[in-house]
Amino acid sequence: MTDGRGETPRRTGMTEKCGVVGVSLNGRDAARPLYYALYALQHRGQESAGIVTHDGFQQHSHVEMGLVGDVFEEDDLDMLNGAAGVGHVRYPTAGSVDSCCAQPFSVSFKSGSLGLSHNGNLVNADEIREELAAAGHAFTSDGDTEVIAHDLARNLLEEDLVRAVKRTMGRIHGSYSLTISHDDTILGVRDPQGNRPLCIGKLEDGYMLASESAAIDTLDGELVRDVKPGELIVLQEDGAGFDSYQLVEEEHTAHCFFEHVYFARPDSVIDETLVYEARRNLGRKLWEESGVETDVVMPVPDSGRAFASGYADAASETTADGEPRDADDDGVEFAEGLMKNRYVGRTFIMPTQDERERAVRLKLNPIKSTIEGKTVTVIDDSIVRGTTSTQLVQLLKDCGAEEVHVRIGAPAIVAPCYMGIDMATREELIASDKSTAEIRDEISADSLAYLSTDAVAEVLGKERIDLCLGCVTGEYPYDIEGEETDRDVSRPEVGEQAIHADD
Ligand code: AMP
Repeated sequence: MTDGRGETPRRTGMTEKCGVVGVSLNGRDAARPLYYALYALQHRGQESAGIVTHDGFQQHSHVEMGLVGDVFEEDDLDMLNGAAGVGHVRYPTAGSVDSCCAQPFSVSFKSGSLGLSHNGNLVNADEIREELAAAGHAFTSDGDTEVIAHDLARNLLEEDLVRAVKRTMGRIHGSYSLTISHDDTILGVRDPQGNRPLCIGKLEDGYMLASESAAIDTLDGELVRDVKPGELIVLQEDGAGFDSYQLVEEEHTAHCFFEHVYFARPDSVIDETLVYEARRNLGRKLWEESGVETDVVMPVPDSGRAFASGYADAASETTADGEPRDADDDGVEFAEGLMKNRYVGRTFIMPTQDERERAVRLKLNPIKSTIEGKTVTVIDDSIVRGTTSTQLVQLLKDCGAEEVHVRIGAPAIVAPCYMGIDMATREELIASDKSTAEIRDEISADSLAYLSTDAVAEVLGKERIDLCLGCVTGEYPYDIEGEETDRDVSRPEVGEQAIHADD
């Protein structure tokens, strides 16, 4: 992917960590349900928001930079006619941050119109872009989503819908969960390794597709199931059902474990696992693997909360040595010792280190009485640059904590994410070149422990090879220039696979 000036942007900056949704209803306009669903997915992207609908004759689009609540006025929603549509929220990244990359991407061509929402990141967008450009396709953005839209538009001139999607899936590689409107038909597509989530929901008068099931709950719908890796879902136009086409099959999946650890809402069910439960179980494992007896255990709000509650639960049952507790031993006290100012944005996206440090202090304030004179374990989901932990340990010690132990509900992040999570460059990651002991010293903690990678796989009920663990192992499930892989990434010919439909 180039940045429009012919330069290759920072890899981590071009990631597309987003939320997608698609709705097909029986008669009722889709705009408001799409709007509410986007609200439920706001945590997946705060840079831009958009909706594209189709009323059977014409496509309507409203896409702008900003939060969902700011992008849409009553009038905008009134204009978005039609019972079918797709929506998108886009994550702020360090790459090209301008309106050309806001989605859904819409295009009209000879055999209809397309609206495309994409979550993920392709690894071969450059090749396809060059080929399409040579064939006369003009590109208006530097995003890989436009590459998918053009490829699909070209295939739709020659093939029926299902075959056209299949052909595009045979050409694009990488991570993609897509919701697509082709005129008033809504499609959902998940890449053959199922890297990013996508699920199907049943509404009172139709069906929907969404990155996370929390969006389905918001519309009082029912989660039907996840879209399977390599599957195309076509929502029926009268909202009566959906058709499924298993277009590509691969031996192993590459589900992103970090969705469960940090990114997804705790109230979402992803790949049949409730995220909240997964986080609590990761916390339990953390106690089993590296529990330390302290007076109190407290979460870093909100990211560490479910982990800390699982950790404290496990700590009330067994000692740090794994022995059952005596009846008169209450174990470790769980306390909310850190209060969060919910009006401060994510520290992560502050551009300078100085601002990031200030933001941690603005965001978190300790309750002195729960800390003073005590030994404290503080629990978070992850350490990225180390800013939060460094500031926190200092803060707790300033409040009179006698010891501060840090426990992290995921393995150390040692390498960047190329598949959609904006996670900093390798140089910025504290664990990319430091051991756990060195990090402990750098953050001035009395002890530090991370969760093991095997524990993550066990809790998520998957083999390691079926997860994308690139950021914690440095080995990726994709062919990424200059990086190691953890599997055979030679690209299989898609071939003629059986196409079947079911409800
Ligand atoms: P850091 O302060 O750089 O070590 O970042 C760690 C904090 O950032 C933790 O509290 C995490 O919950 C949070 N975090 C982890 N990954 C991300 C991400 N991709 N975007 C924003 N925040 C994150």
